[in-house]
Amino acid sequence: MKIICVGRNYTDHIKELENEKPVDPVLFLKPDTSVLLKKQPFFIPEFSNDVHHEVEILIRINRIGKHIDKRFAHKYYEEVGLGIDFTARDLQSELKEKGLPWEKAKGFDGAAVIGKFLPKKDFDNINDINFRLEKNNEVVQRSNTAFMLWKIDELIEYISKYFTLKIGDIIFTGTPAGVSSVKMNDTLTGYIENKELFSVKIK
Ligand code: ZN
Repeated sequence: MKIICVGRNYTDHIKELENEKPVDPVLFLKPDTSVLLKKQPFFIPEFSNDVHHEVEILIRINRIGKHIDKRFAHKYYEEVGLGIDFTARDLQSELKEKGLPWEKAKGFDGAAVIGKFLPKKDFDNINDINFRLEKNNEVVQRSNTAFMLWKIDELIEYISKYFTLKIGDIIFTGTPAGVSSVKMNDTLTGYIENKELFSVKIK
C-alpha cells in the first residue's frame, strides 16, 4: 500500500505559505510506516519544533489502474475519508531551501492519520463535500472539495500517469488554509459534514 499526497491544491493555503501556484499538481509519497496506528496518540518527533496539522480529504483506491482517464476515474474508488498530513514545517522549509526532497518532513513515523471512510454513494456530489478540523473543540480548518484546484477525478488521472494505482492505495488530496503548530495535549478531531472520522491526541 502506498500513500500519494497532493501539495498546493487549495488557493487559500498556497497564499498562506507564500508558495507559487503550480502549473501541475505537486505530488509526494509517504511510506506505509507513516500511518498512525488506530487509537494511538501522535508523538511530536524530537527533530521538529513546528509540526503542523494539514487536514485532507482521502480517497481509497479499489482497483488497479494506470493512465486512468478522468472520465473513468470515479470507477476507481468507492470510499471517501479524512486524515491529517502531519508536516514538520521547520524541517520542510530547511529542505526546500536547499532544494532537497521533503520526505523526512512528511514521511516520518505517525505522519499520516487515516480516519474512517464513508461510502461515496452517501454523497450527491463528490465535488461538494464540507469538511473541517477542530483543535481542542475550536474549528481551525474548514473547507469544501469545490475549492480544490484539481478535482478528485483529475488528480487520479494525473497521478496514474506516473504511479500505477493499486487496491488499498490512499490519496491525500491537499489541505486548505488554517494549518498551524500542534502542542502536547492538543486534541485534533476531523469531520466530514457532521460525521466525526478521527480524533487524535498529541503527546
Ligand atoms: Zn498536505
